[in-house]
Amino acid sequence: MSQPRERIVILGGGPGGYEAALVAAQLGARVTVVDSDGLGGACVLTDCVPSKTLIATSTTMSVVHSAADLGIQVGRLAAGGAGPGRIGHRPASVDAPRLYARVKALAKAQSADVALRLAAEGVEIVEGRGRLDGPGAVLAGGQRIEAGCVLIATGALPRVLPGAEPDGERILTWRQLYDLPELPPALVVVGSGVTGAEFASAYQALGSQVTLVSSRERVLPHEDADAAVVVEDVFRRRGMTVLSRSRAAAVKRSGDGVLVTLEDGRAVRGSHCLLTVGMVPATHDLGLAEAGITLDGQGFVQVDRVSRTTAQGVYAAGDCTGVLMLASVAAMQGRIAMWHTLGEAVQPIRLDHVAASIFTDPEIATVGVTAAAVESGAVDATAVKLPLATNARAKMQGFRDGFVKLFARRGTGIVLGGVVVAPRASELILAVSLAVEQSLTVDQMAHTFAVYPSLSGSLTEAARRLMRPAGDEL
Ligand SMILES: Cc1cc2nc3c(=O)[nH]c(=O)nc-3n(C[C@H](O)[C@H](O)[C@H](O)COP(=O)(O)OP(=O)(O)OC[C@H]3O[C@@H](n4cnc5c(N)ncnc54)[C@H](O)[C@@H]3O)c2cc1C
Repeated sequence: MSQPRERIVILGGGPGGYEAALVAAQLGARVTVVDSDGLGGACVLTDCVPSKTLIATSTTMSVVHSAADLGIQVGRLAAGGAGPGRIGHRPASVDAPRLYARVKALAKAQSADVALRLAAEGVEIVEGRGRLDGPGAVLAGGQRIEAGCVLIATGALPRVLPGAEPDGERILTWRQLYDLPELPPALVVVGSGVTGAEFASAYQALGSQVTLVSSRERVLPHEDADAAVVVEDVFRRRGMTVLSRSRAAAVKRSGDGVLVTLEDGRAVRGSHCLLTVGMVPATHDLGLAEAGITLDGQGFVQVDRVSRTTAQGVYAAGDCTGVLMLASVAAMQGRIAMWHTLGEAVQPIRLDHVAASIFTDPEIATVGVTAAAVESGAVDATAVKLPLATNARAKMQGFRDGFVKLFARRGTGIVLGGVVVAPRASELILAVSLAVEQSLTVDQMAHTFAVYPSLSGSLTEAARRLMRPAGDEL
């Protein structure tokens, strides 16, 4: 007689949930995904996919605006500066309703693809909100589903500042942007972390006049400092107003626009305000504490490196754990949970190997150890930074802002990490990521062929520089 199939219930259909479902189904489990807002989750429907779709348009606008430097006449593309969603006298302008319609349609199509993929693997979908009924059962869609394993992957929600409540018209979270009838003529972005910097960069390129309110000394305070300086410099040069050490105290509607009051009493006016002040976990009212699951002080589910919570048979993945709020990390946490619960060989998650990108223009991509860890002496490494301004391909493409940086362990020369600041840095970082994952040395990287001319040639050159016995110190 064959063994009964393991029953797994997954709460949440974002990358943490659906990637786990695919793995579990392939391993023969009977899988149910409960989701309240659409498969693909916030990642596909409101956050990652829509923002990167918007950025695909804003990046193209940047290319159009710099085309004259490359000998292209673009002035006739959009002679009229007026019309819905059109701002200012620029060589090209954006049709905002069409752009937003494209963003939403693409997100919907991606969600439908996820649904098809899950259906093809035989995963059962229950639409609606679910909650635990003890550690081994879920209440959803009017039924009680008992399971040997439950995965919590309910994601996170935009944090709201008291005194700056979004109204969906002028005071907005990023989830409300795509319902606007126009491009914001004067956008105040509150928060200069990854999300704030990406939207500030995108809207500036699309034609909005952007003011970025940053509570810290510089934008992107948690990222590589050299990279953040390059991006902030580009922002300012392109006409963005960056207010450093400026904390927003309140945001109110004022006439046809918004008034953002800073803690020091200054006021900033704009047509719209976008709030990007972090995320809170979607873990309330799920029956977690009653099931014996420990949350931290902010409400994130506590997990170990194989995604186990404190309750037997209950795992958690993705933004609801607050581990590293990235789709790739959510997906890996979910897969690891399934491999672990189904008895497969599993490697605990390695957060020091996560490759990540910030989709500003230029992009910042990172993997492995950070400059801060090297400079503080926590990691014994040498480093080299090569500006891309002298790279032939960069010159041909007409950009000067960017660099590649590599870190290698002192003595062995094993590549420990790197930073790339460039257009499409998110694609270039894979070479460094491979080196880090496979413990390649700078010698091995330096002996690898790069195409000439190419931006990746600067990566192999950086590796060559680190082959020197002492390495070039930063
Ligand atoms: C603007 C923005 C841009 C981003 N860009 C990137 C990027 O470029 N690259 C990257 O790697 N990451 C990016 N991220 C992060 C990425 O979106 C998240 O890390 C990812 O969505 C986390 O996936 P998840 O499965 O944990 O949750 P989610 O994607 O949030 O999915 C959770 C799902 O669970 C559902 N749910 C919640 N509660 C219940 C319940 N009780 N019952 C049933 N269903 C429930 C929700 O409705 C949702 O569908 C971005 C985030 C933001 C905000």
